[in-house]
Amino acid sequence: MNHKPVNTGYIFQEIMMNIISYCPGGFEGDIVSVEADLRAGIPGVDLVGMPDTAVRESIERVRIAIKNSGYDFPGKRIVVNLAPAGIRKEGASFDLPIAVSILQKAGLFGSDKTHSVMVLGELQLSGAIRPVNGVLSAVIAGQRENAYAFIVPEGNIEEALSSRAGRIYPCRCLSDAVELLGKISEDIIPIFDFNGLSFASENSRDNETELQDDPLSVIKGHGYLKKALSVAAAGMHNILLFGPPGSGKTLAGSRLASLLPDLDLEDSIEVTRIYSLAGMLKKGTGLIKRPPCRSPHHTSSMEGLIGGGRILKPGEISLAHKGVLFLDETPEFRKSILQCLREPVESGRVDLARAGKNCWFPADFQMVLAANPCPCGNRGKDDSVCLCTELDIHRYWKRVGGALIDRIDIRIPVMPVDAGVITGEDNAPAGDYIGMVRMACEIQNERFRGKPYKRNSRIPAGECGNYIRLSDKSRELLGEAVKKFAFSSRAVHSIMKIARTCCDLKGKESADIDHESLLFAIQLRRYGDRDFFW
Ligand SMILES: [Zn+2]
Repeated sequence: MNHKPVNTGYIFQEIMMNIISYCPGGFEGDIVSVEADLRAGIPGVDLVGMPDTAVRESIERVRIAIKNSGYDFPGKRIVVNLAPAGIRKEGASFDLPIAVSILQKAGLFGSDKTHSVMVLGELQLSGAIRPVNGVLSAVIAGQRENAYAFIVPEGNIEEALSSRAGRIYPCRCLSDAVELLGKISEDIIPIFDFNGLSFASENSRDNETELQDDPLSVIKGHGYLKKALSVAAAGMHNILLFGPPGSGKTLAGSRLASLLPDLDLEDSIEVTRIYSLAGMLKKGTGLIKRPPCRSPHHTSSMEGLIGGGRILKPGEISLAHKGVLFLDETPEFRKSILQCLREPVESGRVDLARAGKNCWFPADFQMVLAANPCPCGNRGKDDSVCLCTELDIHRYWKRVGGALIDRIDIRIPVMPVDAGVITGEDNAPAGDYIGMVRMACEIQNERFRGKPYKRNSRIPAGECGNYIRLSDKSRELLGEAVKKFAFSSRAVHSIMKIARTCCDLKGKESADIDHESLLFAIQLRRYGDRDFFW
């Protein structure tokens, strides 16, 4: 055991290196400054600043980890303060900052600089550092606070590096961290060897949808459905697929995300932060590049779907941010859960009030709903009989709720295809759906540059006129459709946005909407509450 000089910190007050850490709380979280004070008295440690049980327990881990790393644990009265005191501190990422604050105060490394250094990590009793959740969010928050350097667990290094912040150092154990902090305080900044680390490793495609040449080739027949899916994918339009069991709704819904192009850098960082906060980022993963696809089961809890919990975690709707949320058998979900979706669908975020604090997570997802046409599922099927009454069917659809269905741009009946199509010749032409969707997305990226929205479905109603121009003939057609199908003004906006996407898929960039695209848009939107029992 090596004996290091122990500074009382008592006679003269030095300026200490400011050790900061991070307390997760929704998408943003808070910077927490960790300071220690050592003075003569009965040996012991007091942890103040609203620590929760897990943080309180860290003192024992810290004590043993310090000893096992070959340092003396100061035999003093130690006070560790986590500031600001008003925020409840939770999680295990305070172990390492507490340990280094105590060791700094004990004089183990220099203290003549006024740098803020962010330190993150959970300690094992051996002194080894375990990875923690939310490192990317922490580093981004630290950058905002002008942190000078970042010390992160080695297991989180790819994630931390994807923030593009400078001076990020991975640590394997407590003594690594102490050595690094010593060099930082003496301004001998070690050069970190970034060899072998890339911002996103290519084999980290878990949680992600795969990119294939033609992801729709697994769907046999269904030419119309495939076209509708590519419109939905290109414009990020919410879509409802309804039809009898076995008609291919589930397969179609689960393929949608694979049509989407890769995320841009901004979206990629947001998605990665959410997965990191949820503790779902695999070790060695950099940025998530593919749009996520989440398909929660209909028995999911409110907390699982919307987010929440004792330690606030993002729900499925946030895990589907910038990707697809696929609700198979939608009417089977609890009504209260479906009603909670309305707000995020509208605003692209979810607010979670918790212990007097308002937290939020992004939740800008594309919603894909699949449902049977009636409770028994046989309605519309040629060879089966449906005995559901009109009231049964009405009740069944009411579970989904008019408000949610109102926000669905595209509604597609999916009927079973002939057995001959599945086993033999596929009569639906194979199309370059990926290529078309990508082109349409590029047109939109260009069109919406500098705007807060990126896809046609997100154009605010008031700005529709800037991007969508109808000829007199088209205007007439739309007027007739409004009368025939009793379209609401929300439905008319939906149709115009879908028509915009149809034009983009054809590579037509001008605001003029061609007649054919408008006709197809009306067809995609025409089913309303009245039609669900066909
Ligand atoms: Zn039925």
